[in-house]
Amino acid sequence: MSTPRLLYADGQGNILDHPGLGMAGSAGGRWEPVEESQCIPLPPGSELFLLPGRLPVGVGENGNFEVLDRDPANGAANVSAVAAFLAPAHTATLWSAYQSKPDAPILPLFAYAAVGLARERMVATAIRVDPLPRQDPDKFPPPQRIQAAGRRLLRKFAHNRLMQHLGHCAMGYGCPAARNLMLGRWEAPLPTAGACNASCLGCISSQPEGPFPVTQERIGFTPTVEEVVEVAMHHFTTGLDPLVSYGQGCEGEPLTQGDLLEESIRRIRARVPQGTINLNSNGSLPGVVARLMEAGLSSIRVSMNSLIPERHQAYYQPRGWSLDEAVESIKVVKAAGGHASLNLLTMPGVTDRPEEAQAISELVEQTGLDLIQWRNLNIDPEVYLRTLRLGPPTERIGVAELIEGLRRRFPKLKHGYFNPKL
Ligand code: SF4
Repeated sequence: MSTPRLLYADGQGNILDHPGLGMAGSAGGRWEPVEESQCIPLPPGSELFLLPGRLPVGVGENGNFEVLDRDPANGAANVSAVAAFLAPAHTATLWSAYQSKPDAPILPLFAYAAVGLARERMVATAIRVDPLPRQDPDKFPPPQRIQAAGRRLLRKFAHNRLMQHLGHCAMGYGCPAARNLMLGRWEAPLPTAGACNASCLGCISSQPEGPFPVTQERIGFTPTVEEVVEVAMHHFTTGLDPLVSYGQGCEGEPLTQGDLLEESIRRIRARVPQGTINLNSNGSLPGVVARLMEAGLSSIRVSMNSLIPERHQAYYQPRGWSLDEAVESIKVVKAAGGHASLNLLTMPGVTDRPEEAQAISELVEQTGLDLIQWRNLNIDPEVYLRTLRLGPPTERIGVAELIEGLRRRFPKLKHGYFNPKL
């Protein structure tokens, strides 16, 4: 069995491999040695991060964990841990192993997969969970082509504030879903909600009291039914393999805009009898979900960090609803003949604990869930574990092993990363 070498960053930010220490990973704060067989080549489109105030942890020849506090090249003290923010469609099975210094700053809202060096190339502890190439970097044309397509669309829909907002998302933030709208293919976003009925610890669009800087500006207006329908119909009539989704990173909770969604879905459905109209949601309002199914919604993706009520509560800080409503929303969609996905915000050492695995299986049994999307939870793991009052796991299944176990137990249950076109 071969062990990849530890990667670390020197004081100038250069990423180097350690001559003697092997790669380690972390699962919920528990360090683990890494074998090459647990790794894949670092996926194209992944980003490498240097973790400030964090000392890398590797494995010595004696098998013991060693905290690296000096650069082996020159004895300098300012070394830092390194991690990979994986490209879409990939789920981390271990996160970066490090020891935080007392004054270490909180890490921004990204996921920090373990990365090492094997056979002279970078590898990461990850699995590809979805074969769909929707957000593969080599499937996107050069930025200037996206800009040109975007400008054309913004001229054509100069009167439509929603299209203008999505143009900004595509050309400003590089949002893959908004870029696919500009390019006329696959899943297009329909954000509508400025407000939310939760205060997720890791919300990427609103952090009033939170410790993290937001990574996306929240939509600042409520589009009209006409604006939403126009964007959707443009995509359905001109797009390649099109589907549309309410509930995006640049908005609050779409179910808080129930009337707007119901009327826009009804009008879209009247003109597109077969098209996939999806809702990404926290699942908080099953009554509204029932109305949307009646109006013509095809599918729902409900996001959860955990199926353990107190862990869901601690992360979502829901107002006037709980995990029960989120589960009920899945049941409502299934009862109405729709497709239901769980967007499982995944962290190794938390999601793959036996009690979580048991709760996931119970959810599948109770609801007839169709798909689990294994999305990496973008958050500083130490802040997350503290908030959930969790220490390092004494027992864990492994993320890849958990997925394999669910495949065997529920052969009809699909596993992926993207909303399917039905
Ligand atoms: S449900 Fe979504 S929009 Fe609302 S706080 Fe959580 S992440 Fe943010």
